[in-house]
Amino acid sequence: MIEIGRENQFYAFSDHMKPVVTARDGEILRFYTKDCYGDLLTREDIRRKDLVGLSPIANPTTGPVYIEGAARGDTLKVEILSITPADHGTMRVTPGSGGLGRAIGQEKVRIFPIEEGKWIDFNGIRLELEPMIGVIGVAPASGEYDTDTPHQHGGNMDNRRITAGCTMYFPVWQEGALFGLGDVHGLMGDGEACICGLEIAAQVEVRVSVIKGRQEACPIWEKEGRWATICSARTLDEAAELARYAMLDFLGKRVKMSTEELAMLLSLIGDTAVCQVVDPLQTVRFALRINALPLAF
Ligand code: CA
Ligand code: CA
Repeated sequence: MIEIGRENQFYAFSDHMKPVVTARDGEILRFYTKDCYGDLLTREDIRRKDLVGLSPIANPTTGPVYIEGAARGDTLKVEILSITPADHGTMRVTPGSGGLGRAIGQEKVRIFPIEEGKWIDFNGIRLELEPMIGVIGVAPASGEYDTDTPHQHGGNMDNRRITAGCTMYFPVWQEGALFGLGDVHGLMGDGEACICGLEIAAQVEVRVSVIKGRQEACPIWEKEGRWATICSARTLDEAAELARYAMLDFLGKRVKMSTEELAMLLSLIGDTAVCQVVDPLQTVRFALRINALPLAF
């Protein structure tokens, strides 16, 4: 196993990013991640102005890792083996920011201890953790996407289904794929309505392997035989359309049915769901509700 420590942070997925370590095809990696505030909000009375001059606080991401054998046109398969949250989670809201920003009167920070490793007490309400990965992806086809912005390379998708036990498939565009992850949430609702999840540092173990010679246009998610496409765009409508067509394309390559029948089937068992509405591009997943088709990537 290779460990990638918290000292290895990056803030943009780009076509020229430099790897911090090299892994073999099939290797298990353990990432140590910071929370999305760079672990800098250590007290509830800290304000953003107190952090000026420090490193960027938005979405530090651990990596990137060069995976041997991965090249443009391939797919990087990432099995999420475990997500182990730290002992506290943090939230922060500011006026005007996020999906409820007009209601926020003043900047506020809350820090929640994790009880027994699995729940928090939110003003007397017990909330069980459902740890998920907010930022996960590879180097893009071209240009640069900061770690706030999701796109075809993955990135800040904030999909609460990216949990331990799922598998992600990323299209590879750059040699070595250049994989990284961060921005773990202990808990988050679909949409990430205000602006943040329960932002938390974590240890994440994954197994990375290379599928040669084929890829989809967007990140693909799978768990227990259920599959989803994940797409991001300027609006939810555009993201949903991308995700629908990506699933039709994905199935069209794997299922012997006419396009018309596949479209009908997707109208029956395809669920359009919102991942997040608060990032620079918005993210939708289109998921098969049941394990009805014997699909392989
Ligand atoms: Ca995020
Ligand atoms: Ca976050």
